[in-house]
Amino acid sequence: MNKKMLELGNKRSIIRELFEFSKQKKAELGADKVYDFTLGNPSIPAHEDVNKTIVDVINNTDSTLIHGYTSAPGDNEVRKAIADDLNKRFGTSYKLTDLYMTCGAAASLCITFRALTENPTDEILAIAPYFTEYKVFVESAGATFKVVPADLNTFEINFEELEKMINKNTIGIIVNSPNNPSGVVYSEKALKQLAALLEKKEKEYGHPVYIICDEPYREIVFDGKTAPHIPNIYKNTIVCYSYSKSLSLPGERIGYILVPEQIKDSKDIYAACLGAGRAYGYVCAPSLFQKVIAQVADKTSDMSEYAKNRDLLYNGLTKLGYECVYPQGAFYLFMKSPEADANQFMEKAKKYNIVVVPSDGFGVKGYVRLAYCVSSKTIVDSLPAFAELIKEYK
Ligand code: PLP
Repeated sequence: MNKKMLELGNKRSIIRELFEFSKQKKAELGADKVYDFTLGNPSIPAHEDVNKTIVDVINNTDSTLIHGYTSAPGDNEVRKAIADDLNKRFGTSYKLTDLYMTCGAAASLCITFRALTENPTDEILAIAPYFTEYKVFVESAGATFKVVPADLNTFEINFEELEKMINKNTIGIIVNSPNNPSGVVYSEKALKQLAALLEKKEKEYGHPVYIICDEPYREIVFDGKTAPHIPNIYKNTIVCYSYSKSLSLPGERIGYILVPEQIKDSKDIYAACLGAGRAYGYVCAPSLFQKVIAQVADKTSDMSEYAKNRDLLYNGLTKLGYECVYPQGAFYLFMKSPEADANQFMEKAKKYNIVVVPSDGFGVKGYVRLAYCVSSKTIVDSLPAFAELIKEYK
């Protein structure tokens, strides 16, 4: 059997392990006595139009169409509706043929990495801190995964380190903003600086260096701000999107890859994505949810709850003396561990029934991630426990 797959299957992710711990604790003590900040499972219900549309589609569409295969890249009407929505939002001129419907961002990323790389020496870079699964996805595509160390002052892009790491083997760089786990939204200035650097490197090496923009949190940005649309800043950008977070539909597995016509070799890359989707056996994205998305592409869940949680948690923890990165988007808070070893801190936190994820797996040491897609009550109730916990360090 495949040893790598065996290892992946046997080695549960730390997030899953902590989630199981908290499930067991909840069964022992009662759910309200455990402050579980582990999983990025949206706590806000899907937009009300989603459920209405599901019922409407089921009642008014031929059943063989709802549950049947669609064409591999997705239903034309669906892709047209998404392209129209993107064009309205970002002033672009995407066509339905630029879009490939997928089973969420994870599938979009796996397919894109497989499509873009061919040799084990081909490199895909991620900027720390980064979503842990990138390493699994890139390596499963047969390419090399490399990490650009974090800028620990701002958690924006560390340009000095990035410039040193780009070389002739660099095929692409993953940009995840709003970021999981830091909550940082890369500024337009930083993205323009990134575009200028990559354009310089493309000239130097004579081949494209693609941005693979992983943006499932695109709509979760606070304080009246929005995340810049990266293809409008850097030509060679491929977008991996998902409705898991913006519409609170992570279990329905629906998203897309956007391969804009403007990128170098767009037609071939699009075809290679189709090939990769075929090789991975995806066949087509869920048919019912494609049809639903066509009608709700312009909707998002009500994100005000996350903004409220962000304020409650950030203000509560900083008042107690914890040092936190100010989250501008997504639903994660990155908090400095009061001791160098975040794993030790995580273990101490467990004694107070606080469950947080140490940052080592995200490519940064000495922090923990708190997913605040929980009830506001959980946050309020957790603060006295955090107050007791920090006393251990005073
Ligand atoms: N990318 C990032 C940064 C994520 O946080 C997640 C999920 O948490 C994914 C991708 C995968 O999302 P999906 O559920 O759409 O596969």
